[in-house]
Amino acid sequence: MFRLKLLSSKQQKVQWDEIEKEIGMEHSWVSPQKTLQYFEQDYVSKEVFFDIFKRYVSGKYCFTEDGILAESGEFTGLPSEEAREKMANWLEERGLGKKTVQYKMRDWVFSRQRYWGEPIPIVHCEKCGAVGVPEEQLPIQLPDVASYEPTDTGESPLAHIENWVNTSCPKCGGKARRETNTMPQWAGSSWYYLAYIMREDQEFKIQNAPLFQQWLPVDLYVGGAEHATRHLLYARFWHKFLYDIGIVTTKEPFKRLVHVGLINAEDGRKMSKRWDNVINPDDVVSEFGADALRLYEMFMGPFTQNISWNTESVSGVRRFLDKVWKLFDRVSLGEEKVYKKDIETLFHKTLKKVTEDIEEFRFNTAISSMMIFVNSLEKEASLNRDMYEKFLILLSPFVPHIAEELWEKLGKTSSIFLQKWPVWDETKIIDEMVNIVFQVNGKVRDIQTVSVDISEEEMKKLAQESEKVQKHIEGKEIKRSIFVKGKLINIVV
Ligand SMILES: [Zn+2]
Repeated sequence: MFRLKLLSSKQQKVQWDEIEKEIGMEHSWVSPQKTLQYFEQDYVSKEVFFDIFKRYVSGKYCFTEDGILAESGEFTGLPSEEAREKMANWLEERGLGKKTVQYKMRDWVFSRQRYWGEPIPIVHCEKCGAVGVPEEQLPIQLPDVASYEPTDTGESPLAHIENWVNTSCPKCGGKARRETNTMPQWAGSSWYYLAYIMREDQEFKIQNAPLFQQWLPVDLYVGGAEHATRHLLYARFWHKFLYDIGIVTTKEPFKRLVHVGLINAEDGRKMSKRWDNVINPDDVVSEFGADALRLYEMFMGPFTQNISWNTESVSGVRRFLDKVWKLFDRVSLGEEKVYKKDIETLFHKTLKKVTEDIEEFRFNTAISSMMIFVNSLEKEASLNRDMYEKFLILLSPFVPHIAEELWEKLGKTSSIFLQKWPVWDETKIIDEMVNIVFQVNGKVRDIQTVSVDISEEEMKKLAQESEKVQKHIEGKEIKRSIFVKGKLINIVV
Protein backbone atom coordinates (compact mmCIF):
# COMPACT_ATOMS: atom_id res chain seq x y z
CA MET A 1 0.00 0.00 0.00
CA PHE A 2 1.14 3.53 -0.52
CA ARG A 3 -0.21 6.98 0.00
CA LEU A 4 -0.34 9.72 -2.61
CA LYS A 5 -0.50 13.40 -1.95
CA LEU A 6 -1.54 15.02 -5.20
CA LEU A 7 -1.36 18.65 -4.19
CA SER A 8 1.45 19.89 -6.39
CA SER A 9 4.62 18.74 -8.08
CA LYS A 10 6.65 20.12 -5.19
CA GLN A 11 7.59 17.85 -2.34
CA GLN A 12 6.01 18.66 0.95
CA LYS A 13 7.25 17.51 4.28
CA VAL A 14 4.65 15.55 6.17
CA GLN A 15 4.85 14.15 9.67
CA TRP A 16 4.55 10.48 8.86
CA ASP A 17 6.08 9.18 12.08
CA GLU A 18 2.77 8.89 13.87
CA ILE A 19 1.10 7.17 10.95
CA GLU A 20 4.01 4.80 10.56
CA LYS A 21 3.79 3.90 14.19
CA GLU A 22 0.13 3.24 13.86
CA ILE A 23 0.07 1.10 10.74
CA GLY A 24 3.58 -0.24 10.79
CA MET A 25 4.54 0.93 7.32
CA GLU A 26 7.08 3.23 5.84
CA HIS A 27 6.43 6.11 3.53
CA SER A 28 8.60 7.42 0.78
CA TRP A 29 8.32 9.90 -2.04
CA VAL A 30 7.87 8.62 -5.57
CA SER A 31 7.65 10.63 -8.74
CA PRO A 32 4.39 10.74 -10.74
CA GLN A 33 6.05 8.72 -13.51
CA LYS A 34 7.21 6.06 -11.09
CA THR A 35 3.73 5.88 -9.58
CA LEU A 36 2.28 5.40 -13.01
CA GLN A 37 4.56 2.42 -13.46
CA TYR A 38 3.28 0.93 -10.23
CA PHE A 39 -0.24 1.15 -11.51
CA GLU A 40 0.65 -0.35 -14.85
CA GLN A 41 2.18 -3.29 -13.05
CA ASP A 42 -1.22 -4.29 -11.74
CA TYR A 43 -2.12 -2.65 -8.53
CA VAL A 44 -5.56 -1.42 -7.57
CA SER A 45 -8.72 -0.27 -9.31
CA LYS A 46 -7.46 0.64 -12.72
CA GLU A 47 -10.78 1.72 -14.12
CA VAL A 48 -11.25 4.89 -12.16
CA PHE A 49 -8.19 5.85 -10.26
CA PHE A 50 -5.67 4.92 -12.90
CA ASP A 51 -7.53 6.92 -15.47
CA ILE A 52 -7.65 10.00 -13.30
CA PHE A 53 -4.01 9.61 -12.39
CA LYS A 54 -2.91 9.18 -15.98
CA ARG A 55 -4.65 12.37 -16.91
CA TYR A 56 -3.02 14.08 -13.96
CA VAL A 57 0.45 12.95 -14.94
CA SER A 58 -0.02 13.86 -18.58
CA GLY A 59 -1.33 17.28 -17.56
CA LYS A 60 -4.51 16.68 -19.57
CA TYR A 61 -6.97 16.68 -16.80
CA CYS A 62 -9.75 18.83 -15.50
CA PHE A 63 -10.05 19.30 -11.76
CA THR A 64 -13.69 19.55 -10.74
CA GLU A 65 -13.51 19.28 -6.95
CA ASP A 66 -13.21 22.08 -4.42
CA GLY A 67 -9.69 23.30 -3.72
CA ILE A 68 -7.54 26.42 -3.73
CA LEU A 69 -7.69 28.60 -6.83
CA ALA A 70 -4.56 29.03 -8.92
CA GLU A 71 -3.86 31.37 -11.83
CA SER A 72 -7.22 33.04 -11.36
CA GLY A 73 -6.28 36.72 -11.23
CA GLU A 74 -7.55 38.46 -8.12
CA PHE A 75 -9.19 35.22 -6.91
CA THR A 76 -5.94 33.24 -6.78
CA GLY A 77 -5.34 31.62 -3.40
CA LEU A 78 -8.97 31.61 -2.31
CA PRO A 79 -10.81 28.42 -1.35
CA SER A 80 -13.40 27.46 -3.99
CA GLU A 81 -16.37 28.25 -1.79
CA GLU A 82 -15.21 31.77 -1.01
CA ALA A 83 -14.15 32.33 -4.62
CA ARG A 84 -17.59 31.38 -5.96
CA GLU A 85 -19.16 34.01 -3.73
CA LYS A 86 -16.62 36.68 -4.69
CA MET A 87 -16.85 35.91 -8.40
CA ALA A 88 -20.62 36.18 -8.30
CA ASN A 89 -20.36 39.54 -6.54
CA TRP A 90 -17.76 40.67 -9.08
CA LEU A 91 -20.18 39.90 -11.91
CA GLU A 92 -23.11 41.53 -10.16
CA GLU A 93 -21.17 44.74 -9.45
CA ARG A 94 -20.44 45.08 -13.14
CA GLY A 95 -23.97 44.25 -14.19
CA LEU A 96 -22.74 41.17 -16.05
CA GLY A 97 -24.80 38.59 -14.23
CA LYS A 98 -26.52 37.68 -10.99
CA LYS A 99 -26.54 34.91 -8.41
CA THR A 100 -29.30 32.37 -8.72
CA VAL A 101 -30.10 28.84 -7.60
CA GLN A 102 -31.03 26.35 -10.28
CA TYR A 103 -32.87 23.13 -9.59
CA LYS A 104 -32.39 20.38 -12.09
CA MET A 105 -34.54 17.32 -12.25
CA ARG A 106 -34.23 14.60 -14.79
CA ASP A 107 -37.23 15.05 -16.98
CA TRP A 108 -39.16 11.83 -17.13
CA VAL A 109 -42.51 11.27 -18.75
CA PHE A 110 -45.01 11.16 -15.93
CA SER A 111 -47.96 9.46 -17.63
CA ARG A 112 -47.73 5.98 -19.08
CA GLN A 113 -49.95 3.87 -21.28
CA ARG A 114 -49.97 0.81 -19.14
CA TYR A 115 -52.19 -0.88 -16.62
CA TRP A 116 -50.13 -1.21 -13.48
CA GLY A 117 -49.26 2.38 -12.53
CA GLU A 118 -51.15 4.48 -10.02
CA PRO A 119 -54.35 5.85 -11.64
CA ILE A 120 -54.26 9.61 -12.20
CA PRO A 121 -57.22 11.08 -10.25
CA ILE A 122 -58.77 13.09 -13.08
CA VAL A 123 -62.00 12.55 -15.05
CA HIS A 124 -62.82 14.07 -18.40
CA CYS A 125 -66.31 15.53 -18.55
CA GLU A 126 -68.01 16.40 -21.82
CA LYS A 127 -69.09 19.76 -20.38
CA CYS A 128 -66.52 20.69 -17.73
CA GLY A 129 -63.38 19.28 -19.27
CA ALA A 130 -60.73 17.83 -16.94
CA VAL A 131 -61.99 17.64 -13.34
CA GLY A 132 -60.04 16.51 -10.29
CA VAL A 133 -61.55 13.59 -8.37
CA PRO A 134 -62.65 14.78 -4.91
CA GLU A 135 -60.64 13.57 -1.93
CA GLU A 136 -63.38 11.37 -0.44
CA GLN A 137 -63.33 9.25 -3.63
CA LEU A 138 -59.59 8.59 -3.38
CA PRO A 139 -57.70 6.46 -3.92
CA ILE A 140 -58.91 5.38 -7.32
CA GLN A 141 -58.25 1.69 -7.56
CA LEU A 142 -57.28 -0.25 -10.64
CA PRO A 143 -60.00 -2.56 -11.92
CA ASP A 144 -59.58 -6.26 -11.20
CA VAL A 145 -59.13 -7.80 -14.65
CA ALA A 146 -57.87 -11.05 -16.09
CA SER A 147 -55.93 -9.45 -18.91
CA TYR A 148 -54.16 -6.14 -19.18
CA GLU A 149 -52.42 -6.50 -22.51
CA PRO A 150 -51.57 -3.34 -24.41
CA THR A 151 -54.13 -2.22 -26.98
CA ASP A 152 -53.66 -2.08 -30.75
CA THR A 153 -54.60 1.59 -30.79
CA GLY A 154 -51.74 2.80 -28.58
CA GLU A 155 -54.25 3.72 -25.88
CA SER A 156 -53.79 2.57 -22.31
CA PRO A 157 -55.26 -0.90 -21.61
CA LEU A 158 -57.58 0.81 -19.14
CA ALA A 159 -59.39 2.55 -22.02
CA HIS A 160 -61.07 -0.74 -22.91
CA ILE A 161 -62.40 -1.57 -19.48
CA GLU A 162 -65.81 0.03 -19.94
CA ASN A 163 -67.26 -0.36 -16.45
CA TRP A 164 -64.16 1.29 -14.98
CA VAL A 165 -63.54 4.02 -17.49
CA ASN A 166 -67.14 5.29 -17.69
CA THR A 167 -68.08 7.37 -14.69
CA SER A 168 -69.90 10.56 -13.76
CA CYS A 169 -68.48 14.04 -13.42
CA PRO A 170 -67.93 15.09 -9.76
CA LYS A 171 -68.85 18.67 -10.75
CA CYS A 172 -72.01 18.45 -12.88
CA GLY A 173 -72.93 14.77 -12.50
CA GLY A 174 -72.93 14.31 -16.28
CA LYS A 175 -71.23 11.60 -18.31
CA ALA A 176 -67.46 11.46 -17.96
CA ARG A 177 -64.53 9.16 -18.64
CA ARG A 178 -61.65 8.46 -16.29
CA GLU A 179 -58.10 9.35 -17.25
CA THR A 180 -56.70 6.10 -18.60
CA ASN A 181 -52.97 6.86 -18.43
CA THR A 182 -51.28 5.89 -15.20
CA MET A 183 -48.35 7.26 -13.21
CA PRO A 184 -44.84 5.80 -13.48
CA GLN A 185 -43.59 3.63 -10.62
CA TRP A 186 -41.47 6.41 -9.16
CA ALA A 187 -44.59 8.41 -8.37
CA GLY A 188 -45.48 5.94 -5.65
CA SER A 189 -41.91 5.35 -4.60
CA SER A 190 -41.38 9.07 -4.06
CA TRP A 191 -43.47 8.96 -0.91
CA TYR A 192 -43.75 5.30 0.05
CA TYR A 193 -41.83 5.89 3.28
CA LEU A 194 -44.71 8.17 4.28
CA ALA A 195 -47.26 5.57 3.22
CA TYR A 196 -45.66 3.02 5.56
CA ILE A 197 -46.14 5.45 8.44
CA MET A 198 -49.74 6.18 7.42
CA ARG A 199 -50.66 2.51 7.38
CA GLU A 200 -50.23 2.40 11.15
CA ASP A 201 -53.48 4.27 11.56
CA GLN A 202 -56.68 3.45 9.65
CA GLU A 203 -58.09 6.90 10.45
CA PHE A 204 -54.97 8.71 9.34
CA LYS A 205 -55.39 12.46 8.85
CA ILE A 206 -52.63 14.08 6.88
CA GLN A 207 -52.78 17.51 8.56
CA ASN A 208 -50.54 17.78 11.66
CA ALA A 209 -50.15 14.02 11.74
CA PRO A 210 -48.50 13.01 15.03
CA LEU A 211 -47.23 9.82 13.37
CA PHE A 212 -45.21 11.87 10.87
CA GLN A 213 -43.73 13.85 13.75
CA GLN A 214 -42.93 10.66 15.57
CA TRP A 215 -41.24 8.79 12.72
CA LEU A 216 -39.66 11.35 10.43
CA PRO A 217 -37.03 11.73 9.19
CA VAL A 218 -36.22 8.20 8.06
CA ASP A 219 -33.07 7.03 9.87
CA LEU A 220 -31.38 5.31 6.98
CA TYR A 221 -31.68 5.26 3.22
CA VAL A 222 -29.93 2.42 1.41
CA GLY A 223 -29.74 2.43 -2.34
CA GLY A 224 -27.46 2.15 -5.33
CA ALA A 225 -25.57 5.22 -6.49
CA GLU A 226 -27.89 5.43 -9.50
CA HIS A 227 -30.64 6.50 -7.08
CA ALA A 228 -28.77 9.72 -6.39
CA THR A 229 -30.11 11.25 -9.59
CA ARG A 230 -33.43 9.42 -9.62
CA HIS A 231 -35.37 8.11 -6.67
CA LEU A 232 -33.50 10.07 -4.04
CA LEU A 233 -33.93 13.27 -5.99
CA TYR A 234 -37.63 12.75 -6.62
CA ALA A 235 -38.34 11.69 -3.04
CA ARG A 236 -36.53 14.76 -1.71
CA PHE A 237 -38.35 16.98 -4.14
CA TRP A 238 -41.77 15.64 -3.08
CA HIS A 239 -40.78 15.81 0.57
CA LYS A 240 -39.66 19.41 0.32
CA PHE A 241 -42.92 20.32 -1.37
CA LEU A 242 -44.85 18.58 1.42
CA TYR A 243 -42.74 20.50 3.93
CA ASP A 244 -43.53 23.80 2.26
CA ILE A 245 -47.27 23.15 2.47
CA GLY A 246 -46.97 22.04 6.10
CA ILE A 247 -47.68 18.31 5.77
CA VAL A 248 -44.34 17.02 7.02
CA THR A 249 -42.32 18.79 9.69
CA THR A 250 -38.77 17.89 8.67
CA LYS A 251 -36.93 19.62 5.87
CA GLU A 252 -35.15 16.46 4.80
CA PRO A 253 -36.76 13.05 4.34
CA PHE A 254 -33.70 10.94 5.22
CA LYS A 255 -31.09 11.25 7.95
CA ARG A 256 -28.37 9.04 6.56
CA LEU A 257 -27.55 7.68 3.12
CA VAL A 258 -25.56 4.54 2.35
CA HIS A 259 -24.85 3.54 -1.23
CA VAL A 260 -24.68 -0.14 -1.93
CA GLY A 261 -21.94 -1.14 -4.37
CA LEU A 262 -22.59 -2.94 -7.60
CA ILE A 263 -21.90 -6.64 -8.03
CA ASN A 264 -19.99 -7.08 -11.26
CA ALA A 265 -19.61 -10.27 -13.23
CA GLU A 266 -16.76 -12.69 -12.67
CA ASP A 267 -14.82 -11.05 -15.54
CA GLY A 268 -14.98 -7.69 -13.73
CA ARG A 269 -17.42 -6.16 -16.19
CA LYS A 270 -20.98 -5.16 -15.51
CA MET A 271 -23.35 -8.10 -15.76
CA SER A 272 -25.01 -7.95 -19.15
CA LYS A 273 -26.81 -10.30 -21.51
CA ARG A 274 -24.62 -8.84 -24.23
CA TRP A 275 -21.51 -10.32 -22.62
CA ASP A 276 -23.19 -13.47 -21.45
CA ASN A 277 -21.75 -13.03 -17.96
CA VAL A 278 -24.91 -12.73 -15.90
CA ILE A 279 -25.10 -14.68 -12.64
CA ASN A 280 -28.63 -15.89 -12.10
CA PRO A 281 -29.44 -15.89 -8.37
CA ASP A 282 -31.88 -18.80 -8.84
CA ASP A 283 -28.99 -20.99 -10.03
CA VAL A 284 -26.88 -20.01 -7.03
CA VAL A 285 -29.78 -20.71 -4.68
CA SER A 286 -30.35 -24.17 -6.12
CA GLU A 287 -26.67 -25.07 -5.96
CA PHE A 288 -25.59 -23.45 -2.68
CA GLY A 289 -28.80 -22.43 -0.91
CA ALA A 290 -30.49 -19.08 -0.31
CA ASP A 291 -28.59 -18.45 2.94
CA ALA A 292 -25.24 -19.05 1.27
CA LEU A 293 -26.10 -16.58 -1.48
CA ARG A 294 -27.23 -13.99 1.03
CA LEU A 295 -24.18 -14.49 3.21
CA TYR A 296 -21.80 -14.37 0.27
CA GLU A 297 -23.23 -11.11 -0.99
CA MET A 298 -22.54 -9.56 2.39
CA PHE A 299 -19.16 -11.21 2.69
CA MET A 300 -17.74 -10.46 -0.75
CA GLY A 301 -16.40 -7.05 0.20
CA PRO A 302 -17.17 -3.64 1.68
CA PHE A 303 -20.87 -2.87 1.30
CA THR A 304 -20.35 0.38 -0.57
CA GLN A 305 -17.84 -0.88 -3.12
CA ASN A 306 -18.30 -2.46 -6.52
CA ILE A 307 -17.09 -6.04 -6.40
CA SER A 308 -16.78 -8.86 -8.89
CA TRP A 309 -18.62 -12.10 -8.39
CA ASN A 310 -16.54 -15.15 -7.52
CA THR A 311 -18.20 -18.56 -7.52
CA GLU A 312 -15.33 -20.18 -5.65
CA SER A 313 -15.89 -17.84 -2.71
CA VAL A 314 -19.53 -18.87 -2.61
CA SER A 315 -18.36 -22.44 -1.93
CA GLY A 316 -16.19 -21.11 0.90
CA VAL A 317 -19.18 -19.42 2.47
CA ARG A 318 -21.20 -22.57 2.05
CA ARG A 319 -18.48 -24.58 3.84
CA PHE A 320 -18.69 -22.14 6.76
CA LEU A 321 -22.42 -22.75 7.02
CA ASP A 322 -21.85 -26.49 6.94
CA LYS A 323 -19.49 -26.08 9.89
CA VAL A 324 -22.07 -24.09 11.82
CA TRP A 325 -24.64 -26.80 11.09
CA LYS A 326 -22.34 -29.58 12.28
CA LEU A 327 -21.46 -27.73 15.49
CA PHE A 328 -24.97 -28.48 16.65
CA ASP A 329 -24.02 -32.09 17.29
CA ARG A 330 -21.43 -30.97 19.80
CA VAL A 331 -23.67 -28.69 21.81
CA SER A 332 -23.99 -30.05 25.31
CA LEU A 333 -27.67 -30.30 26.00
CA GLY A 334 -27.27 -30.19 29.76
CA GLU A 335 -27.27 -26.99 31.72
CA GLU A 336 -23.60 -27.01 32.72
CA LYS A 337 -21.70 -23.93 31.63
CA VAL A 338 -18.27 -25.05 30.59
CA TYR A 339 -16.31 -22.22 29.10
CA LYS A 340 -12.69 -22.26 28.18
CA LYS A 341 -11.10 -18.94 28.98
CA ASP A 342 -9.74 -18.23 25.50
CA ILE A 343 -12.98 -19.28 23.82
CA GLU A 344 -14.99 -17.14 26.15
CA THR A 345 -12.77 -14.12 25.42
CA LEU A 346 -13.06 -14.68 21.69
CA PHE A 347 -16.81 -15.13 21.98
CA HIS A 348 -17.32 -11.79 23.73
CA LYS A 349 -15.03 -10.10 21.23
CA THR A 350 -17.08 -11.59 18.42
CA LEU A 351 -20.31 -10.35 19.99
CA LYS A 352 -18.89 -6.86 20.18
CA LYS A 353 -17.39 -6.89 16.72
CA VAL A 354 -20.48 -8.20 14.94
CA THR A 355 -22.80 -5.82 16.80
CA GLU A 356 -20.67 -2.78 16.01
CA ASP A 357 -19.97 -3.86 12.43
CA ILE A 358 -23.67 -4.25 11.67
CA GLU A 359 -24.27 -0.67 12.83
CA GLU A 360 -21.60 0.53 10.43
CA PHE A 361 -22.59 -1.68 7.49
CA ARG A 362 -19.33 -3.63 7.77
CA PHE A 363 -21.06 -6.92 7.09
CA ASN A 364 -18.00 -8.48 5.48
CA THR A 365 -15.82 -8.03 8.56
CA ALA A 366 -18.67 -9.09 10.86
CA ILE A 367 -18.88 -12.35 8.92
CA SER A 368 -15.15 -12.95 8.92
CA SER A 369 -15.05 -12.52 12.70
CA MET A 370 -17.81 -15.14 13.01
CA MET A 371 -15.77 -17.42 10.75
CA ILE A 372 -12.76 -17.01 13.03
CA PHE A 373 -14.92 -17.83 16.02
CA VAL A 374 -16.39 -20.95 14.42
CA ASN A 375 -12.92 -22.15 13.42
CA SER A 376 -11.79 -21.89 17.02
CA LEU A 377 -14.76 -24.01 18.11
CA GLU A 378 -13.85 -26.76 15.71
CA LYS A 379 -11.20 -28.05 18.09
CA GLU A 380 -13.66 -28.37 20.96
CA ALA A 381 -15.23 -31.72 21.73
CA SER A 382 -18.35 -30.23 23.25
CA LEU A 383 -19.85 -26.76 23.18
CA ASN A 384 -21.58 -24.67 25.72
CA ARG A 385 -25.26 -24.45 24.89
CA ASP A 386 -25.79 -20.88 26.05
CA MET A 387 -22.91 -19.69 23.91
CA TYR A 388 -24.13 -21.55 20.85
CA GLU A 389 -27.61 -20.07 21.25
CA LYS A 390 -26.25 -16.55 21.46
CA PHE A 391 -24.06 -17.20 18.47
CA LEU A 392 -27.08 -18.31 16.44
CA ILE A 393 -28.87 -15.07 17.32
CA LEU A 394 -25.79 -13.20 16.15
CA LEU A 395 -25.84 -15.11 12.89
CA SER A 396 -29.58 -14.91 12.31
CA PRO A 397 -29.73 -11.60 10.41
CA PHE A 398 -27.17 -12.99 7.99
CA VAL A 399 -28.57 -16.48 7.44
CA PRO A 400 -32.19 -16.39 8.60
CA HIS A 401 -33.28 -19.84 7.40
CA ILE A 402 -30.46 -21.90 8.87
CA ALA A 403 -30.46 -19.90 12.11
CA GLU A 404 -34.20 -20.41 12.61
CA GLU A 405 -33.90 -24.10 11.76
CA LEU A 406 -31.08 -24.71 14.27
CA TRP A 407 -32.95 -22.66 16.84
CA GLU A 408 -35.92 -24.95 16.49
CA LYS A 409 -33.67 -28.01 16.70
CA LEU A 410 -32.53 -26.69 20.08
CA GLY A 411 -36.12 -27.14 21.22
CA LYS A 412 -37.14 -23.50 21.07
CA THR A 413 -40.78 -22.70 20.46
CA SER A 414 -40.63 -18.98 19.69
CA SER A 415 -38.81 -17.58 16.66
CA ILE A 416 -35.13 -16.67 16.84
CA PHE A 417 -36.06 -13.27 15.44
CA LEU A 418 -38.02 -12.46 18.58
CA GLN A 419 -35.04 -13.01 20.89
CA LYS A 420 -33.01 -10.31 22.62
CA TRP A 421 -29.78 -9.37 20.92
CA PRO A 422 -26.89 -10.76 23.01
CA VAL A 423 -24.69 -8.32 24.90
CA TRP A 424 -20.95 -8.72 25.43
CA ASP A 425 -19.20 -8.39 28.74
CA GLU A 426 -16.58 -5.65 28.54
CA THR A 427 -14.48 -7.23 31.33
CA LYS A 428 -14.11 -10.42 29.32
CA ILE A 429 -12.60 -8.89 26.22
CA ILE A 430 -9.54 -7.22 27.64
CA ASP A 431 -6.72 -7.99 25.28
CA GLU A 432 -4.13 -10.35 26.57
CA MET A 433 -2.07 -10.21 23.42
CA VAL A 434 -1.09 -6.99 21.68
CA ASN A 435 0.79 -5.96 18.55
CA ILE A 436 4.10 -4.35 19.45
CA VAL A 437 5.97 -2.16 17.00
CA PHE A 438 9.74 -2.65 16.80
CA GLN A 439 11.62 0.48 15.79
CA VAL A 440 15.24 1.28 15.10
CA ASN A 441 16.01 4.99 15.39
CA GLY A 442 12.30 5.73 15.19
CA LYS A 443 11.69 3.75 11.99
CA VAL A 444 9.31 0.79 12.07
CA ARG A 445 11.15 -2.43 11.26
CA ASP A 446 8.91 -5.19 12.58
CA ILE A 447 5.65 -5.90 14.36
CA GLN A 448 5.02 -8.89 16.63
CA THR A 449 2.16 -10.13 18.72
CA VAL A 450 3.13 -10.53 22.36
CA SER A 451 1.54 -10.75 25.78
CA VAL A 452 0.38 -7.40 27.10
CA ASP A 453 2.35 -7.97 30.33
CA ILE A 454 5.73 -8.45 28.70
CA SER A 455 8.62 -6.67 30.47
CA GLU A 456 11.10 -4.24 28.94
CA GLU A 457 13.94 -6.74 29.24
CA GLU A 458 11.98 -9.46 27.46
CA MET A 459 10.99 -7.00 24.75
CA LYS A 460 14.58 -5.94 24.16
CA LYS A 461 15.55 -9.56 23.77
CA LEU A 462 12.73 -10.23 21.31
CA ALA A 463 13.65 -7.15 19.29
CA GLN A 464 17.27 -8.15 18.99
CA GLU A 465 16.23 -11.63 17.88
CA SER A 466 14.06 -10.28 15.09
CA GLU A 467 15.72 -10.71 11.71
CA LYS A 468 14.11 -7.56 10.41
CA VAL A 469 15.55 -5.58 13.30
CA GLN A 470 18.94 -7.29 13.15
CA LYS A 471 19.55 -5.95 9.64
CA HIS A 472 19.49 -2.43 11.03
CA ILE A 473 21.46 -2.88 14.24
CA GLU A 474 24.16 -5.26 13.11
CA GLY A 475 27.63 -3.94 13.88
CA LYS A 476 26.19 -0.83 15.51
CA GLU A 477 26.32 0.23 19.09
CA ILE A 478 23.01 0.21 20.95
CA LYS A 479 22.90 3.48 22.83
CA ARG A 480 19.57 3.05 24.56
CA SER A 481 16.05 1.76 24.05
CA ILE A 482 12.67 3.37 24.59
CA PHE A 483 9.87 1.12 25.73
CA VAL A 484 6.17 1.97 25.77
CA LYS A 485 4.22 -0.79 27.43
CA GLY A 486 1.77 -2.51 25.15
CA LYS A 487 2.81 -0.33 22.20
CA LEU A 488 6.39 -0.17 21.01
CA ILE A 489 10.08 -0.55 21.59
CA ASN A 490 12.51 1.79 19.91
CA ILE A 491 16.19 0.90 19.76
CA VAL A 492 18.53 3.83 19.29
CA VAL A 493 21.87 2.97 17.63
ZN1 LIG B 1 -68.94 17.94 -15.66
